[in-house]
Parts: sequence; structure tokens; C-alpha cells
Amino acid sequence: MDRFSKDGRMIIPLVQRKKEIERADEDKVRYVVTEAYCPNGCSIIDVEHKINGAAGLRMKFKRPGAEGELVLSAIEGDFEKIILSGELQEGVKDELYCPHCGAMFKKLVNCSCKSDADMVVIGLTPKLDLNNAISFCNVTGCPNGTTIKSGDVIRHLRLWGKI
Ligand SMILES: [Zn+2]
Ligand SMILES: [Zn+2]
Repeated sequence: MDRFSKDGRMIIPLVQRKKEIERADEDKVRYVVTEAYCPNGCSIIDVEHKINGAAGLRMKFKRPGAEGELVLSAIEGDFEKIILSGELQEGVKDELYCPHCGAMFKKLVNCSCKSDADMVVIGLTPKLDLNNAISFCNVTGCPNGTTIKSGDVIRHLRLWGKI
């Protein structure tokens, strides 16, 4: 097949072009957190613990009778985490704290998975700005247990009538 038309423009088969668009879309929606802060402005990015190539988000967890420290993946849609100490329990909620100053991370709304589950919010700027934040459920194993984009946080808040 002739790759060039008579006026010299390259002819790209439609199938190939569609694939390129899909790949571009995938790149666009892949969201990696590179800065994250506790409510007091400590950075919680842990460069010593990388998950799938990205420095993770370090935090303390606590629930009645148990506590420890973990690192969450900074990649949207990535459920992987590193448990540094303690144990998480499937389906059980933990309160989350800054590993440096001990401040509790703010919660925005209830997660629909359980009556006491919360969507915890982590700012991507030293001073919390909901337009620039991520949120995830604090129940281990919840499908909302991974980071989601700030736009979705805001959408959730509107949905729940909180702002
Ligand atoms: Zn802190
Ligand atoms: Zn949940």
C-alpha cells in the first residue's frame, strides 16, 4: 500500500491512528502524586519506599488495639501498599495520622462501603486546598482504598451536600 497520497501527505490507516489516541488518553489519566502533606504541612512523601517506581505516601494507622505504619502507592488506581509495622485487617477501618507530627488526616465524607467509613483527604500543597488534594477510604480493601483525584473529591462533596 502506498503510504503517501498524491499531494505528499502521509496516509495513516485508521486502525493505527485510533490506537495512538487510546495510548495518549491512557498517559493523560495516569496520575502520580509527587507532593503530599499532613494538615500541619509535613511532607509525607517517603523516597525510601517506592511502589511501582514512585515514592510512596507514608502514614501512621491506629484502631482500637492496633497501630502501625504504612506506605501507600502514589499512583492513582494502584492498590499496593507497604506495611512498615503492625497489621491491617481486611474490611476494618483505621484512623490515619502524620508519621512526623502525629496530626490526624482530615476526613471529608463517609465512604459508601460502611456506615463508619471515611474518605480521608490529603493535600498536595503544604496548606490544604481541596482543589489540589487526593482522597481515599480508610477501610482496608475498600474499592475506594486507592487515591483518587481532587476533582473527584470535590464531586463527592457536592454529591453529599458538604460544600
Ligand atoms: Zn505532620
Ligand atoms: Zn470505603
